[in-house]
Amino acid sequence: QRSDIINLAAGPSQLPLQVLEQAALGLLNYEGTGIGITELSHRSPEFKALTDSLENSIRTILDVPQTHSILFVQGGGCGQFSAVVYNLLARHYLLYPDLKGEERVADYVVTGSWSKKAAEEARMIAASCGARVNVVADARENSQSGKSFEGVPSHDKWKFSAAPAYIYYCENETVDGVQFSDDLQSPASFPFSSLPASPDGAAPIPLVGDHSSSFLSRPIPNLSQHALIYAGAQKNLGPSGLTVLIVRKDLLVDTVAASKLGAPVTPTMLAYKTYADAASLPNTPPMFSMYVSLLAVKFYLERGGLAALRQRNEAKQRKVYEVLDEGVAAGLFHGNVQAASRSWMNVTFTLSSPELEKAFITVAQEKGLRGVKGHRSVGGIRLSLYNAVSEDQVDIVVALVRQFIQERS
Ligand code: PMP
Repeated sequence: QRSDIINLAAGPSQLPLQVLEQAALGLLNYEGTGIGITELSHRSPEFKALTDSLENSIRTILDVPQTHSILFVQGGGCGQFSAVVYNLLARHYLLYPDLKGEERVADYVVTGSWSKKAAEEARMIAASCGARVNVVADARENSQSGKSFEGVPSHDKWKFSAAPAYIYYCENETVDGVQFSDDLQSPASFPFSSLPASPDGAAPIPLVGDHSSSFLSRPIPNLSQHALIYAGAQKNLGPSGLTVLIVRKDLLVDTVAASKLGAPVTPTMLAYKTYADAASLPNTPPMFSMYVSLLAVKFYLERGGLAALRQRNEAKQRKVYEVLDEGVAAGLFHGNVQAASRSWMNVTFTLSSPELEKAFITVAQEKGLRGVKGHRSVGGIRLSLYNAVSEDQVDIVVALVRQFIQERS
């Protein structure tokens, strides 16, 4: 029974039941057409209307300014690890054609496994034109072991380049459970106020954020200061297959022209302009994912939008970290992430022995919890608390964990 299970997986993850029930109807008969959503032509007026509606509802819920386009692409977060480099280097070549390859630098803030992977991809692509990657800060240098990601490095340790082609960060590190604080006074916030200025003042240095695992979980501070925010749909939004881009219009550059100046050749389907020119329909899009995502955004809009989501998500994580701290005090758990950088979406911890960890996983499984194992690269436990995980479900999880601690201390 679905109602017996609490899915705490890191993605794909739970979606609201009401959204799934609506989607099931649309799968059979989309809005009275007699055709299911996955059988409909993507060139039909009905699907064009769906695409427009998805764009408008995301613009509304996040308050996206008209300076930015909202685009729908495929290839997931990993696809963007590549696309970011191609599009942003192309823009840099068009703006500054006379610079040598080695004078072009992309700045990466590495706070966890996904930004590390993104930086590696950038290094590979940038090398093809002699450009390079500068690691602004690496959170591992902050950690006790020197190996794990345990928090946002203090701002005074960040070393930006003088004039990078762009600056990249990951808002929530899904594997490690490290998130930037949305309180801009916090030492774990992103230092928006100290970003390097553009050398000629033409356009601000583009700031790129991977928001895959926190998208639509709370408002984005300083959204308009970003040149690009991207997110795979499969955490807070809908089924996998869809990647949402919020992209400042000066990033929609002619990548073919840039390649003639020496920029790496951008595959057509990775160029942002391809999607902007075709209103996100240059080819067959992930229609079902877009449909369910639209239902989800409308569902959240009807329930108070991001302010209400923030309130619920804040309360959820507070309860879970509270019980995690009880486990730490009892000597059973170890919370790896510094308090100020604790992720609201992915709560990660380890247990004091492999046997205890096994016991935890067994109890969780018996009681109907699913998806609690940490990412295979880091192990431990990870409880993901995305939008669709209700406060009632969190209360059940917290009670279970509390009982587990009490029985063993
Ligand atoms: N970035 C983040 C923050 C993620 O959590 C993930 C996936 N869990 C990715 C990128 C990669 O996304 P995808 O699997 O859609 O390529």
